[in-house]
Amino acid sequence: MKALLGQHPARARVFLADAERARFHDGALWEIRRRRDRRARDLPEWEALRSVAAQIKAHTVGRLPEYLEQFEERAARHGAVVHFARDAAEHNRIVLELLSSRGISRVVKSKSMLTEECGLNPWLERHGIEVTDTDLGELIVQLRREPPSHIVLPAIHLRTQDVAETFTRTLGAPPLTDAISLTRFAREHLRAKFLAAQAGITGVNFAIAETGGIVVCTNEGNADLGTSLPGLHIACMGLEKLIPRAADLGVFLRLLARSATGQAITAYTSHHHGPRPGAELHIVIVDNGRSLIRAEPEHRRALACIRCGACMNTCPVYRRSGGHSYATHVPGPIGSILSPLQQPGEHTSLPHACTLCGSCSAVCPVGIDLHEQLLLLRRRQVDGAPATASRAAEPGSRGKRWLGALVAWTLSNPRRFARLGACVRWVGRRWPGFSRFGPFSAWVATRELPPLPARSFQEQYAERRRQLVLAQKPEHAPSSPPRLP
Ligand code: SF4
Repeated sequence: MKALLGQHPARARVFLADAERARFHDGALWEIRRRRDRRARDLPEWEALRSVAAQIKAHTVGRLPEYLEQFEERAARHGAVVHFARDAAEHNRIVLELLSSRGISRVVKSKSMLTEECGLNPWLERHGIEVTDTDLGELIVQLRREPPSHIVLPAIHLRTQDVAETFTRTLGAPPLTDAISLTRFAREHLRAKFLAAQAGITGVNFAIAETGGIVVCTNEGNADLGTSLPGLHIACMGLEKLIPRAADLGVFLRLLARSATGQAITAYTSHHHGPRPGAELHIVIVDNGRSLIRAEPEHRRALACIRCGACMNTCPVYRRSGGHSYATHVPGPIGSILSPLQQPGEHTSLPHACTLCGSCSAVCPVGIDLHEQLLLLRRRQVDGAPATASRAAEPGSRGKRWLGALVAWTLSNPRRFARLGACVRWVGRRWPGFSRFGPFSAWVATRELPPLPARSFQEQYAERRRQLVLAQKPEHAPSSPPRLP
């Protein structure tokens, strides 16, 4: 609890120090949110799809052991080998064993948040295996030795000139200034990596229990190249990626791309039912704290997440603080729920990085009650922690508890609330700059407090009603319409 304020807010300040970048980041993500809205409006059945998706996921998470067994058995029928890993370390050991037992030293990997979560790249590199991320955004952040800052748009925090500088510094690219030339350069660089790769690692968007097949969605076709050329395909997935039937897939595919990027569908939706002839397919299913989440009735709905990123694109805090400020593999609202639950005692500041505006819950295609869960996590932290004499604004501090009690005492009685309002208005009118001092100074540092009115809303409303009642009596009708003060 002690370092709560020292985590996310401190890193957000670093991001905000580059005002131009922060503005660009905010605008770029908001544009994607708008595209998502337009695409969602194209489908009259959008809300029905969200509701069905939520029900399918709730059903699947409730019967996860059965569906895992079914998936394993059906996948094996197609010739795939299914491995189960309790945690990140076991996942990494399994992947390393698969590679090193075959003498493999060069791997291409398409985007997989699970391998980020498990820290697979540094682990393999420490054991002498070269891993090349083949998604363009992932490649850029890999070259910069940075984690992705978004689960769908890993390099959204970077501008064209940042990418050009990265390619020149790390790959010796000539000075390039436009996105098309940079993409062409990356494509040529990657083509050689694809041809030399001895194995391809991918994530999994959906695993179908009924068929034993897996589905991988990309926009660049990089997963397909990475699994078509080498003889070994390793697919890594969290156990929540299961869906029961092939018929359910259409529901999620229609929601995923629209929510993620505002596309009707991802450019490549590839189905793998066992390995291709002469090759091997290994599927590694990872728990890594997901069972802990499943065991929590209030939070198990978070396992419905299909990693579309829409909650990040809409979140005012994420857009203005950047993905790296969350310091976790999945940032934004859903990451602020998953990470503290998967690693109890860690990432404790994240549930507090939320304005509770509810925008994330409103856009989530699988109906996760994100802001409610964030509020619940905060309450738990505060209830479970002893009062401390640390900074007054720190959650769980004695100062914040007293402030909370004072606010509850005031708001629970309309008269008290009215008197407090009158006091604040009285002070505000005599001393307009009062909010720049004391506990509210941080709040107004980036906002203008509007001039305080002479009378409360209740008083203005009562006066307006009185005038309207009088106006209905002909003898009292004013010559002109009444105005609010
Ligand atoms: S929580 Fe919902 S909106 Fe956020 S990434 Fe997951 S599915 Fe998308």
